[in-house]
Amino acid sequence: MPARSIEQIRNLCKRRGFIFPGSAAYGGLGSFWDYGPLGVEMLGHIKRAWWRNVVYERDDMEGLDGAIITSRKVWQHSGHEATFSDPLVDCKKCRARHRADHLTSNVCPKCGSTDLTPPRSFNLMFQSHVGPVAAEVGTDEELASRVYLRPETAQTIFMNFKHVQATLRRKVPFGVAQIGKAFRNEITPGNFIFRTREFEQMEIEFFIKPPQFVKDGEKTDEQWHEEWISQRYNWWLSLGVDPSRLRKRAQDKAELAHYAKATTDLEYLFPDFGWGEVEGVANRTDFDLSAHSRDIPEADLARLKLEKNADSTETFDYFDPEAKARYIPWVIEPSAGVTRAMLTFLCEAYHEELVKEPTPAEVDPLKVEIDSAIKNAQKKAKEAEKLRAESRVPSPGSTADKAAGDAAPGTRDTGPKHDPVAIADFVAKLEEMKGRLPASLLEIDNLLEEHPGAQNLEPVKKLKPKVNKLAEDCVRVVLRLHPTLAPIKVAIFPLKKNEPAIVDIGRRITKQLAPFMRVQYDDSAGIGRLYRRQDEIGTPFCITVDFQTLEDNTVTLRERDSMAQSRVKIDDLKHMLMQRLHLA
Ligand code: ATP
Repeated sequence: MPARSIEQIRNLCKRRGFIFPGSAAYGGLGSFWDYGPLGVEMLGHIKRAWWRNVVYERDDMEGLDGAIITSRKVWQHSGHEATFSDPLVDCKKCRARHRADHLTSNVCPKCGSTDLTPPRSFNLMFQSHVGPVAAEVGTDEELASRVYLRPETAQTIFMNFKHVQATLRRKVPFGVAQIGKAFRNEITPGNFIFRTREFEQMEIEFFIKPPQFVKDGEKTDEQWHEEWISQRYNWWLSLGVDPSRLRKRAQDKAELAHYAKATTDLEYLFPDFGWGEVEGVANRTDFDLSAHSRDIPEADLARLKLEKNADSTETFDYFDPEAKARYIPWVIEPSAGVTRAMLTFLCEAYHEELVKEPTPAEVDPLKVEIDSAIKNAQKKAKEAEKLRAESRVPSPGSTADKAAGDAAPGTRDTGPKHDPVAIADFVAKLEEMKGRLPASLLEIDNLLEEHPGAQNLEPVKKLKPKVNKLAEDCVRVVLRLHPTLAPIKVAIFPLKKNEPAIVDIGRRITKQLAPFMRVQYDDSAGIGRLYRRQDEIGTPFCITVDFQTLEDNTVTLRERDSMAQSRVKIDDLKHMLMQRLHLA
């Protein structure tokens, strides 16, 4: 079973070095994240897998890496400056902000109030200026130096259509792929890295003949569109997503951008919030290249609802040597999020397995300790409440940055040691989890470690190592990541870390494999615990050097998913691993 909640993934990512909250030492910044040592490996693997699939394995694609900061004119003529906005409504009662198009009724989903402001248009682009500017917003001087951080990578591909086509002597149909950062000042970021204000995209603009030039036997725009939808759908499956949790959904007329002929979203069934778009595949007709072109006939401008572009020095057309005609190519655009893909693959790969049923003799004393920890927490909450009332200390929760949509209550401790609101939340969760023991062992382990309401409580401090030990003994968390996506490919353990002959061999194998794959040598715990740690981060293979190695030059190779162990000759390791990790 994949992840039951985004919280499980968020905990794992923080605990094991995939993803950390951005600017954390200063209380965090609304939904910005830093990718740690394992996160950066995994992002890299996703990008390489995509690039290999859409660039290397095709003969009709080229790559590009455009600038993040582009002229304001680009976004003016692409339509983003005028229309790349979301309708924003504020709840007058609880001050929560919502996207009007995400509300199912005229009621605040947070507090139930019907007292909402009318929707206002909120542009999602981050602005900056090139060079020093002291002018007021909207003046000619300000506008002349204004730039935007790109909200999508696509526009630089359009800007470079002719450069790529001419320098690489490409004939339509061909496409250009780009991976890079994009920025959107989202109104409601959240669900961990599903919707963030800084993220990464993998986009393709695939240039094709307009319908009137398509000859018998050639693919029409609709056929190209279908082909890309299924190509892209299959890519997600090839990296381990189960088809029961990935669907193609054609956008209906009301959702469709006015210039798009058709768009199909690929959606994944996420825990907590259900189906969410991970990629969109759009038939954008000749809108984009026409929008940036100087000489477009009036009739086409009217058809595409475009103004004449007097700013551009280019016309993005193409001379088709076979048709002996010039035309503006049509575009099929598959556009996916790298960071959203990472969340998808993590949710899909996450599994918890009870490998050993704990006995009542192990569980019952824990329940008793949990009860007394709860009593103590409630007492501390009452004392803190009293203290606050006397000294009028503001509640810590009241200053937290709610914009993140992710911050737990009381994240910032501005007052006394205990926050009654956070403690109440902690106690409610702990009570509920206690009722689900032993299945909830890991959840309790995380709760005690992470929850702001669990901090500075002595009985909790005592309870923590006991829960942790039982969880480690009985539960296995395993990320069943496709080997291509796993951050660490192989872990190498010495059975005894004070046995020089074993250590030497372990180090030698590590050195031998390191140029070809990310390996990790670890001797910081017993083998059982080391296996668990690697399972939790999705490492496909573990190698143990033991006493038998000294006799016959073989090591134990242990597979993550089946936990099967076999003996492999050291000399055969590299070749075998390269093959099984799809590196050869
Ligand atoms: P949504 O409806 O979720 O806001 P969108 O339709 O605006 O998304 P596109 O403009 O089609 O998204 O962007 C293409 C892809 O980029 C999306 O499928 C998604 O994977 C990714 N993406 C878009 N916005 C974000 C974001 N704020 N955070 C992370 N990924 C994003």
